[in-house]
Amino acid sequence: MSDSARANYFDNAATTPLDPTALAEMLPYLEDDFGNANSIHAWGQRAHAAVETARQHVADLLRCAPEEVVFTSGATESNNWILKSFSPVTVSPFEHSSVWETAKTLGNRTLANDGYKLFADPEAELVSVMLVNNETGAVLTPPPTKRLHRDVTQALGKLPIDLTGVGYASMSAHKLYGPKGVGALYIRNAVPLGPLLNGGEQEDGLRAGTLNVPAIVGFGTACRLASERMESDLHHVQSLREAVQETLSKVTDYRDNSSESNSPYILSVSFLGVEGETLVVEADAKGYAVSSGAACSSRSNEPSHVLTALGIEPEWLRGTVRVSFSRWNTEEAARDLAKAIAGAVEKLRSRGK
Ligand code: PMP
Repeated sequence: MSDSARANYFDNAATTPLDPTALAEMLPYLEDDFGNANSIHAWGQRAHAAVETARQHVADLLRCAPEEVVFTSGATESNNWILKSFSPVTVSPFEHSSVWETAKTLGNRTLANDGYKLFADPEAELVSVMLVNNETGAVLTPPPTKRLHRDVTQALGKLPIDLTGVGYASMSAHKLYGPKGVGALYIRNAVPLGPLLNGGEQEDGLRAGTLNVPAIVGFGTACRLASERMESDLHHVQSLREAVQETLSKVTDYRDNSSESNSPYILSVSFLGVEGETLVVEADAKGYAVSSGAACSSRSNEPSHVLTALGIEPEWLRGTVRVSFSRWNTEEAARDLAKAIAGAVEKLRSRGK
């Protein structure tokens, strides 16, 4: 992969590039070590050992026991599994569509909020509150509750995660430089839920199906690397975010949608009188990737339920851009991107006059 493909890509909340070390460690399991992790011969044993090493790396990053980590195809699957395991469930109004839409189909309730502050629902069997919001980067604080699920997808490997008081947590590897289509559900004390999929005995009978060994290995490597370099990555993205903020804050009719406690990996800003999508296209023409919202909803015209719940007025909401950072973005690319966005806002506004 070329360096510029990674450096100019500022849509890392949608997905991140695969770390070359993760790729290198995955390759043997796509080649000679192709065994089924449930087989008892040497091929199977090698695959099994690789899966258990990966589970240990995920557990080390979460600071939990490996038995508490069940591999899934990603956060969407983990979220569906947990939400469908309890009733009634109450979810925060800021959840990713994989929680939000699932909750809607189940007729679940939404926590009351005032800005990012969330109020308790004493009747809920399970409350679901994400750790870091994928559209704004806000770090959310859950209200007191009997049983708590957290979608930690945008926090894993990026910010320290404290699972005190958390019963369940969902995550995906591709948000922390791992491969797509693999993730996990953390289950406290490994207290079994009903199985998600029936079939073979994989994952203690909770999630049947032949394990995707290369992807699980890549996930484990991504977690190991994140444990090693979380602090230095954090400093890096913090300085990039500040550089972008500095340039954009000089544009008139600009607002920053950050909360007081925000992930440095995500910057959501809005400009009055322009369309976020047009800014995405303008940035793309200059060779940069950003987003006008969550990737999963950015092809629909529905206003974001997250920004709406924050009370952001529609005229601001339309002009929202999300810039999300990675360990590979450079200071130079961040400054150029900010100039490109600021220039595009001015150009579009002057055209509108
Ligand atoms: N939760 C959050 C907070 C996310 O940002 C995402 C990915 N956009 C998901 C869940 C879903 O992850 P996946 O598509 O890998 O299942």
